[in-house]
Amino acid sequence: MFYQETIAAIATSSKNGSISILRISGEEACRTVSRIFYNGKGERIDLCSCKTHTIHYGFIKNRQNELLDEVLVLLMRAPRSYTAEDVVEIHCHGGFLIAQTILEELVREGARIAEPGEFTKRAFLNGRLDLSQAEAVMDVIQAESQLTLKNSLTQLRGDVREKINTLREMILEDTAFLEAALDDPEHIPLNDFPETMREHTRILRREVEHLLENSRNGRRIKEGIRTAIVGKPNVGKSSFLNCILRENRAIVTDIPGTTRDTLEEEMLIGSTLLHMIDTAGLRNTGDAIEKIGMDKTREAIRGADLILCILDTSMPLTQEDRDVLGEIEGLPVIFVLNKSDLDPAWGERELMDTLLSGAQFEEREILSFSARTGAGLPELEACIKSLMFRDKVSFNDDIYITNARQKQALADAAESLRQLEQSIEEGVPEDLYSIDLYNAYESLGKIVGETVEDDIIDKIFRDFCMGK
Ligand code: GDP
Repeated sequence: MFYQETIAAIATSSKNGSISILRISGEEACRTVSRIFYNGKGERIDLCSCKTHTIHYGFIKNRQNELLDEVLVLLMRAPRSYTAEDVVEIHCHGGFLIAQTILEELVREGARIAEPGEFTKRAFLNGRLDLSQAEAVMDVIQAESQLTLKNSLTQLRGDVREKINTLREMILEDTAFLEAALDDPEHIPLNDFPETMREHTRILRREVEHLLENSRNGRRIKEGIRTAIVGKPNVGKSSFLNCILRENRAIVTDIPGTTRDTLEEEMLIGSTLLHMIDTAGLRNTGDAIEKIGMDKTREAIRGADLILCILDTSMPLTQEDRDVLGEIEGLPVIFVLNKSDLDPAWGERELMDTLLSGAQFEEREILSFSARTGAGLPELEACIKSLMFRDKVSFNDDIYITNARQKQALADAAESLRQLEQSIEEGVPEDLYSIDLYNAYESLGKIVGETVEDDIIDKIFRDFCMGK
């Protein structure tokens, strides 16, 4: 570990809460806090002589000996701390002003205010976290659904690092053999090497491609399943949305960057995050301006991961239902047969024989539902999960990379491996293999942060919040 200045920041949210936590990290952490930390008798508490992982009760005072707050101080010595440096946490009363005043005192005693993400950056630079774990820290904080959270926690545990390191190890072994054989062809023959190499590369490429394939699920986990709700007027689309909101204490966030004409919202069905695409523009009209809106809506529908097509079972199916169907053919669709609490005018059999006869979909499920009573909601969630994640999201054995930077590195590695396979097939001389091997090794290294340039690291941590 190399010397770094001692840094301090308020780690809790700036809104008023019952406690606030200040975090101090670095070689001088104990000494800095000890200068302002007193026991009930007015004597300084010397944290430098205290045992690690202990909690101390006392008072923070300023240089004028004025009482600032009654606090608890936690001491975690290097390397068993978040940053792997000496870390002291001061738990003071809630209220931003108190924490801010204590922070100012710490700065007066020599600490520097931490930059956003600097604690986590130090954890990374000190080797306690790899880059995929550091990025997972932010994902954990920002997680909006249980699925996202679970996935980020697996990454935080180091599963991505373990997987990537295994793959890099395989590449390294082949590279080492290749270099040795090229150096000493008499003793290490390359006879069957191209064939072996081809097999190894194929295995590696499949592994990397599997991770890439999973990262599609990763996006759905993290950003929500892009979902469009379609149906003719009065089938219960608004009631359906309200039902989800009512039953799930769902969060609804305005997504930044969306304009008024494409209103988008996020909501939860159970543990699954849906990113709702507004389809209000989908109306049959002769109006030119509305037509533009319709084209936009159509485009959005085509880009959706999932279509929920609402049908009203209490009324006969009509041409309007057929028109809606025309917009969603070929896509993954769940037909929600709404108003199951009323007497049905038709059933699944009739639906199959009429509206759906001959229609093709990427996926197709049919479910009974009532927006009035909420009946069918658990089944709907299960259906969405199995359709969108193909039951693969167990989080016990598989890795879902959600981070765009990591995904790009995977794609680059896959490309290098594909090129290597091609070179082998074309009988390119062995000494040229090492370039692609090296590129794949480097690309994978970017995921865990072993081969990332400093400015990229700075950029990654800048996006963190203060005190993390
Ligand atoms: P939209 O035009 O597709 O958004 O339809 P609405 O959500 O406005 O619903 C149209 C009408 O159907 C309203 O009067 C709702 O109360 C009613 N409705 C919606 N869903 C149900 C349901 O599941 N059961 C019953 N009985 N009525 C429903």
